[in-house]
Amino acid sequence: MAGIRITHPERVIDEARGLRKIDLVHYFEAVAPWLLPQLQKRPTAVVRAPSGIGGELFFQKHASKLQIPHAAQHEGLDPGHAALMTFESVDAIVGAAQMDAIEFHTWNARVTNIEKPDRLIFDLDPDPALGWDRMIEAAQLTRGLLEALGLRAWCKTSGGKGLHVVVPLARHASWEAAKDFARAVAVHMASTLPDRFSAKMGPKNRTGRIFVDYLRNGRGATSIAAYAPRARPGLGVSVPIRWDELESVTGGAQWTVANLHERLDKLHADPWDGYGEARQRITAAMRKQLD
Ligand code: ATP
Ligand code: MN
Repeated sequence: MAGIRITHPERVIDEARGLRKIDLVHYFEAVAPWLLPQLQKRPTAVVRAPSGIGGELFFQKHASKLQIPHAAQHEGLDPGHAALMTFESVDAIVGAAQMDAIEFHTWNARVTNIEKPDRLIFDLDPDPALGWDRMIEAAQLTRGLLEALGLRAWCKTSGGKGLHVVVPLARHASWEAAKDFARAVAVHMASTLPDRFSAKMGPKNRTGRIFVDYLRNGRGATSIAAYAPRARPGLGVSVPIRWDELESVTGGAQWTVANLHERLDKLHADPWDGYGEARQRITAAMRKQLD
């Protein structure tokens, strides 16, 4: 148990499911062994929902506006702004939940080497009219391209509508090189499979297609952390999966704060086995293959 006093524990945050603030706190306590490694040393923004998920949501990237008990503060990493926050303990995530935080969004770098991203994220955003099978196919095609370039990739649900494909990197490339590479991957996919993919943001550009969002790879950009819930009806959770189970996944919000424990209890191994040991770089030769 965390040493945080929870005020208004019975307050309902998801009317449709009757999920209360205290349920979210219990979720965070239970999932902490999985969630904390995902947050470790990463500047983290939170989405707070003081009036529940039906009310106004606040995306908070810096420490100043509202102090979150036990969140660590890092001055000077985001020039011209207040301190960035990291969440390194159960008390810090439960403290955030006490301040009505639901979502945790992390940078692609850690405070120990903030100018060198340690992963790329490809966010696959479908035209809502497309079936889920197209999303599965898109993730597999993204993986196929990355593997052909020599990069291993891992997959997670977004907790919302889609999937995220994640490529761990040794901390070598600059932000500019990482984002340029991610953009080149997206553009390559859109130009070789234009009926399936778009590399341009905006609903009009992805009609009948899936937008490969590479824009989350710039300095200061964030994405939902694995094992973090979403402030949306049902409180879906972003969940790492194995590639060989992707075909049986039914949607981006298949797992929620209410049912994720069923999956975690049954796991025999980390679905992202090997992720932490991957020591891969993006190279000039890879970049050239994308042109
Ligand atoms: P889905 O699968 O439903 O698309 P997702 O996580 O991929 O879920 P969004 O929730 O639309 O997509 O993500 C929005 C992105 O923009 C996230 O990467 C988040 O970190 C970032 N973001 C969200 N709100 C703000 C904000 N107010 N200011 C800056 N960045 C934000
Ligand atoms: Mn998305």
